[in-house]
Amino acid sequence: MMSKSFHPMVRTLMGPGPADVHPRVLAAMARPTIGHLDPQFVALMDDIKALLRYALRTDNLLTMPVSGPGSVGMETCFVNLVEPGDKAVVCINGVFGGRMKENIERAGGIPIVVADTWGRAVDPNKVDETLRAHPDAKVLAFVHAETSTGACSDVRTLVEIAHRHDTLTIVDAVTALGGSELQVDAWGVDAVYAGSQKCLSCTPGLAPISFNDRALDRVRGRRTRIQSWFMDLNLVMGYWGSGERRSYHHTAPVNALYGLHEALLMLHEEGIEQAWARHRHHHAALRAGLEALGLELIVPESERLPQLNVVGIPGGIDDLAVRQRLLNEYQLEIGAGLGELAGKVWRIGLMGYSCRPVNLLLCISALGAVLRDLGHPGDVAGAIAATHQALAA
Ligand SMILES: *Cc1c(COP(=O)(O)O)cnc(C)c1O
Repeated sequence: MMSKSFHPMVRTLMGPGPADVHPRVLAAMARPTIGHLDPQFVALMDDIKALLRYALRTDNLLTMPVSGPGSVGMETCFVNLVEPGDKAVVCINGVFGGRMKENIERAGGIPIVVADTWGRAVDPNKVDETLRAHPDAKVLAFVHAETSTGACSDVRTLVEIAHRHDTLTIVDAVTALGGSELQVDAWGVDAVYAGSQKCLSCTPGLAPISFNDRALDRVRGRRTRIQSWFMDLNLVMGYWGSGERRSYHHTAPVNALYGLHEALLMLHEEGIEQAWARHRHHHAALRAGLEALGLELIVPESERLPQLNVVGIPGGIDDLAVRQRLLNEYQLEIGAGLGELAGKVWRIGLMGYSCRPVNLLLCISALGAVLRDLGHPGDVAGAIAATHQALAA
């Protein structure tokens, strides 16, 4: 038993999420809890939905945060949109595409896999061929920003292909939202889910989702009942839907939603295009520093995410030893490789509030110093200078 209050040592979070949470968000979460059907809270819910529509670039009425982590957002999309026996094409170019496949299977669907190399974008030509070979596929599912590999896929093109084959799209935007351009309406994305703890600078535990009318029609026209009571959107909408009258479905995480509201408000104050630009700008500075240290990003330049940088670990350097020293000596967290990339790469996140100069400079100088200590040749002072220079550009 812990006999006293928990006070974690402050860390700088530059892994694959959670990212640093903005102090304004933490302060908002400490405000008094009110009832989840209190008229004040209902007004806050409406504002959260409006701010989410802004962030997602959509007018979709069904736009709201699901109570649960990004994985619950993922599952909500699949249990509502995939019925037993439905064929669903799923693109796997990293860990999260693999999870989508599992969701399809568990919803009783039949996954048709389009496999791509880890560290590369989803290949639109393969998707087109696959949809041609399976004209009865009901869904195309893919990840916009693959956090396990640092690759960004072309949402606009993939959605266009799906619609040519009259297939509905489910897009994972957990790491994308707030960090990479995403235009839900202009690109025609049918169903999308995201997460609070990556580029939104919020705490983990909430999953924004948005469904357009096509996707909602699919939910309403189902032959079978949705197997999950908690995630059945027909029921959830009774609480999150429009109008004054809300019926109890589950107790919303009231204070967590104060935090999400504050985070979305900050994104609105900054401007969504400016947030995308900030991620690109800091990414360029991080890259300059990493390259000066002799490190390489594994994703080809045109397919790279700005908010998640996957760096090859130099030969002879022990992955865990470096990450432990960064954590213990500099209170800096970076991510390990996942799946096939375990032990081969580090994942350096520049997400949301973590995407700022002070984090970049700490990362380059601390990583540079630890690597130099372990015998890796690299010009630490030159790397810091290169980072400053790119930041000033
Ligand atoms: C983090 C992440 C998830 C899962 O989100 P959790 O909040 O950890 O459940 C899903 N997809 C992608 C691309 C992610 O980066």
